[in-house]
Amino acid sequence: MKFDIVVIGGGLVGASLLAALKGSGLKLALIETRQPAPLPVDDSWDARVYAISPGSVEFLQSCGVWQRMDPDRISPVHEMRVQGDDSAARIDFSAYESGVPELACIIENRQLQHAVWEALTEADNVQLFCPAQCDSLAWHESHVELTLSDGTVLQTALLVGADGVSSRVREQAGIQVDRHSYHQTGVVANFEVEQPHHHIARQWFRRDGILALLPLPGKRVSMVWSANTVLADELLTLSPGALCEQVGRAAEHAPGAMQLITPQRGFPLNFVQAKSLVKPRLALIGDAAHGIHPLAGQGVNLGLRDARELAHVLMQFDGLGDCGEFSLLRCYERNRREDILAMGWVTDGLQKLFGSEDAAIMRIRNLGLGITNRLPLLKNRLMRHALS
Ligand SMILES: Cc1cc2nc3c(=O)[nH]c(=O)nc-3n(C[C@H](O)[C@H](O)[C@H](O)COP(=O)(O)OP(=O)(O)OC[C@H]3O[C@@H](n4cnc5c(N)ncnc54)[C@H](O)[C@@H]3O)c2cc1C
Repeated sequence: MKFDIVVIGGGLVGASLLAALKGSGLKLALIETRQPAPLPVDDSWDARVYAISPGSVEFLQSCGVWQRMDPDRISPVHEMRVQGDDSAARIDFSAYESGVPELACIIENRQLQHAVWEALTEADNVQLFCPAQCDSLAWHESHVELTLSDGTVLQTALLVGADGVSSRVREQAGIQVDRHSYHQTGVVANFEVEQPHHHIARQWFRRDGILALLPLPGKRVSMVWSANTVLADELLTLSPGALCEQVGRAAEHAPGAMQLITPQRGFPLNFVQAKSLVKPRLALIGDAAHGIHPLAGQGVNLGLRDARELAHVLMQFDGLGDCGEFSLLRCYERNRREDILAMGWVTDGLQKLFGSEDAAIMRIRNLGLGITNRLPLLKNRLMRHALS
């Protein structure tokens, strides 16, 4: 079977790239190991949520995905309050001051994933191999040959690796990475809370990690606590009551009484940056290209910007030539490099700054938050990047 583009990995980023290309006339395929799960029949909540930027919402709208989302499961963020580990140090961002309707939308992973998959199943130029596993890749001058574990052989002019932070595609292509562990786990859980959140996302930079409470529809919040491994192991084994007590204390009791509505889950946090995004007949997108710390809630947004840019470059291809041409791929890499490096640098730097126990650094970081809060131009610059 011959294709123009085969994507390995149908997470949000890989599936969104295909959704963006569904009107292109290109022959597309997706290989994904997991069977897409149907939405649960009850109205339970997914503890895995994303803060999706307005730029990503626009992209998902252009792919025909956002329109499929249930508006009752989306919560806009109108304000962000970030607190340092000295109670006087804080920085606030507001949609009103930034002149936008919202700073971000909080959305559950499975709702968004379901909407993207729905869009793909309706596309007549996308063939889904799912669940399927690619056993081997062979690189040729004019194409890449993939052999799936059931013996099916596919040929493609362009292979896209969207298979997440531990990308096998990246490894098989021999692309090197810069990598280090944060020795932290992202502990996530959802709660029902007593106090209304007023669509404010709150974040506390603490000595034992970074706690974020993101607004969900109704009187609910979603927690991402990037905690050092010892604390994370404790948080993951606490009873619902004990967890609520500990989170409430860390959040300075802002949510009032809390009730756990999803079991807590943990995700190990690592920094990964591929040294190259492309090689002949291959492009990497999403976490396969860059895994960043979740403190800025930007990982999937960064990946969606990869998908948007790669789709844009490929859409310029007239359908007559070779869509795996290296000059096209280099163009994608050039256009994405700066954003990826900047986001990796900022999130890694902030994590290190707030992870330090050095007294002088502790003073500087809190001072930095306070000063930035009083500099509207700098704040606006930071905000503009986060909104894209
Ligand atoms: C705790 C936490 C909170 C976060 N919060 C936010 C947030 O608020 N906002 C934000 O923007 N980002 C956030 N992120 C980051 C975000 O989760 C990732 O950046 C995003 O999931 C990356 O999407 P992806 O599609 O590139 O990769 P993945 O979601 O990892 O998807 C990869 C897909 O590839 C499939 N796959 C893997 N190997 C193979 C294979 N060999 N063959 C076929 N298929 C394969 C997998 O099954 C999976 O479906 C957070 C991350 C963490 C850990």
